[in-house]
Amino acid sequence: MKFCPKCGTLMSIKNVDGKRVWVCPSCGYEEEVNSGQQGISLRTRIQHSAKERLIVVRKDKKMEVLPKTRAICPKCGYTEAYYWLVQTRAADEPPTRFFKCVRCGHVWREYD
Ligand SMILES: [Zn+2]
Ligand SMILES: [Zn+2]
Repeated sequence: MKFCPKCGTLMSIKNVDGKRVWVCPSCGYEEEVNSGQQGISLRTRIQHSAKERLIVVRKDKKMEVLPKTRAICPKCGYTEAYYWLVQTRAADEPPTRFFKCVRCGHVWREYD
């Protein structure tokens, strides 16, 4: 557990490009999770792999019909990627956009 240093609200963890980040739901403060916190990193890894499995299922079924857009692949630098939307957060928040590089197949997500 960690409390926001700005406003004191209990923070939650989310994954940003494979990095674990504490996020304050109240004021939006973000802080990278210290890798020394073993219990937390274990729990986050499980959540992460569950989400990745979800992506794989989606990818297999929808791969051929995914629209393409201009996006820069963080892995190979290519500028075109497939994209799709997934509701990963609360229902009243906008869905997260996922990208899959047309050239190398790398999958990443966009945060607004
Ligand atoms: Zn805060
Ligand atoms: Zn790529």
